[in-house]
Amino acid sequence: MVLATFNPDKRRELEGLIALPGLELVTLAEVPGATAPEETGATLEENARLKAEAACALTGLPALADDTGLEVDALHGAPGVHTSRFAGPDASYADNVRALLDALAHVPPAARGARFRTVCVVCMPDGDSFASEGVLSGSIALAPRGTHGFGYDPVFELPGGRTLAELADDEKAALSHRARAVRALAPQFARAWEHRQTS
Ligand code: IMP
Repeated sequence: MVLATFNPDKRRELEGLIALPGLELVTLAEVPGATAPEETGATLEENARLKAEAACALTGLPALADDTGLEVDALHGAPGVHTSRFAGPDASYADNVRALLDALAHVPPAARGARFRTVCVVCMPDGDSFASEGVLSGSIALAPRGTHGFGYDPVFELPGGRTLAELADDEKAALSHRARAVRALAPQFARAWEHRQTS
């Protein structure tokens, strides 16, 4: 199966979540000539589908893509589908975190509710496809804390008080929005995979 991403952080997280007999995972970074499709969709599902379909068409392999948005209550659900470019088109993780903290500078702790939403889409070479969603609720911390994870993890605080970046990798993998989305489609993918192996 090809994971429709070049992002090593996502590979690390996804790898631990999909393990089936005979299933080998590659990312687009290992596929010669692969390029990332423009994320032009209006929704997370449209973007995930664009990425999964392109990777499946390019490789002829089953493809899994995910698209994640951070929805901040005080920003009326933004940045949402624009999460990766909150601070501009080529923003780094640090730029995005800074821009988010600046946008919430005058928002008190009780009004900093937020959630990560991940949509996963699997496309099979026979044209079959399925989608799932995973949500993780929390709030935006007043300042970054922690060294694990990636992206907005240092400022995404869980109800227990720790940020996602203060969790060990396996703790994040057990509860994350991405893990929830992947787990939700795992049974369907396992059936499609078995069908492919036996036909
Ligand atoms: P993507 O479009 O799915 O690659 O994700 C959009 C942006 O959301 C990424 O550039 C990251 O900044 C952020 N993001 C995605 N997943 C996570 C996560 O698990 N933790 C923190 N930030 C994330």
